[in-house]
Amino acid sequence: MECMTEITLNVGAGQTEKRVLLDLSLEELTEVVTGLGQPAYRARQIWEWVYKHYAVSFDEMANLPKTLREKLAAEWVISPLESAIRILSQDGDTQKVLFRLADGQTIETVLMLYDKRRTLCISSQAGCAMGCTFCATAQGGLARNLTSGEIVAQVLYFARYLAKADAEPPMDVERPTAVTNVVLMGMGEPMHNYRNVWTALRLLTDADAFGLGARHITLSTVGLIPMIDRMADEGLQIALAVSLHAPNDELRSSLVPLNSRYPVADLLAAVRRYIDKTHRRVTFEYALMAGINDSPALAEELAEKLSPLLCHVNVIPLNPIPDSPFQPTSDADTLRFVEILRAGGVPATVRLRRGIEINAGCGQLRQAAQRMAA
Ligand code: SF4
Repeated sequence: MECMTEITLNVGAGQTEKRVLLDLSLEELTEVVTGLGQPAYRARQIWEWVYKHYAVSFDEMANLPKTLREKLAAEWVISPLESAIRILSQDGDTQKVLFRLADGQTIETVLMLYDKRRTLCISSQAGCAMGCTFCATAQGGLARNLTSGEIVAQVLYFARYLAKADAEPPMDVERPTAVTNVVLMGMGEPMHNYRNVWTALRLLTDADAFGLGARHITLSTVGLIPMIDRMADEGLQIALAVSLHAPNDELRSSLVPLNSRYPVADLLAAVRRYIDKTHRRVTFEYALMAGINDSPALAEELAEKLSPLLCHVNVIPLNPIPDSPFQPTSDADTLRFVEILRAGGVPATVRLRRGIEINAGCGQLRQAAQRMAA
């Protein structure tokens, strides 16, 4: 089959050492603006240009004096991201961008279109320290945490893309449109970069900033228990997803090394505390891998452990990684697994696998780009 995937390469000169406006709170921006001898309301104007109109340059800010725009442009950039590679899937409804950061690190963001939803899968770290054995991101280890600005910038980038009817590349959707859902399931473990992730989440949900409803955001973790407890106290209705992938310690520890520190029983107890406190349903992610974690016996064990919890299981057909021993479960075995869960009283659905030919799985594009560069 001929591959119609579109690839756009941007060989940029790299970013300058300028400071990043998206790393600022409104209060900090106000200090910057008043420090330049301008009235405080100018900060609010800039804020609106960035968060409501998705401006990427100070030149766009038509209601600011030219001298202020020039002063700001001399020392600041709005976004710390530069798109390096953009790939559009064959069916035109999944798009992935590999962003280059100021220090040369790269991260991935994926835009997926499902019916009326425009879901963004964003990264929280450059690389990841969790070492999950089936994951492409894990293979390079953790480079560093993303700043809150680098997290927010991924959303604003695609918000601008979706809002502009003529933005390239075209996707098969009605326009104009907006980002409707955000999932923190890209590169990195969001709970391992807790402070910056939550600063970003507050900006994304603040009605005066990006203003996305908290219920439309999902944070996915492999199970850093103290941070699950902390999230329960945050008072924002961000959805919690836990990547479980196995119902018992022996198997889970072989897939998710963090399990040796936070075993399944303790993790499920933390999820129960979270549900008791927030009254919110939790999603468990379960990536099915042929011959590894997809047997009927494991489905029964999983159903038995999860049925007392207010939860839902998202069964994910694995994105295959080249040269990996982990391969996706067949459709028939996937269906059988889901049916056993349902029969055991656990709501379960199969998540559509999107953008498989564009390396849309976590860390796969970055890894492919590194291979190409090697
Ligand atoms: S699956 Fe998620 S937590 Fe595990 S190594 Fe990959 S990015 Fe990190």
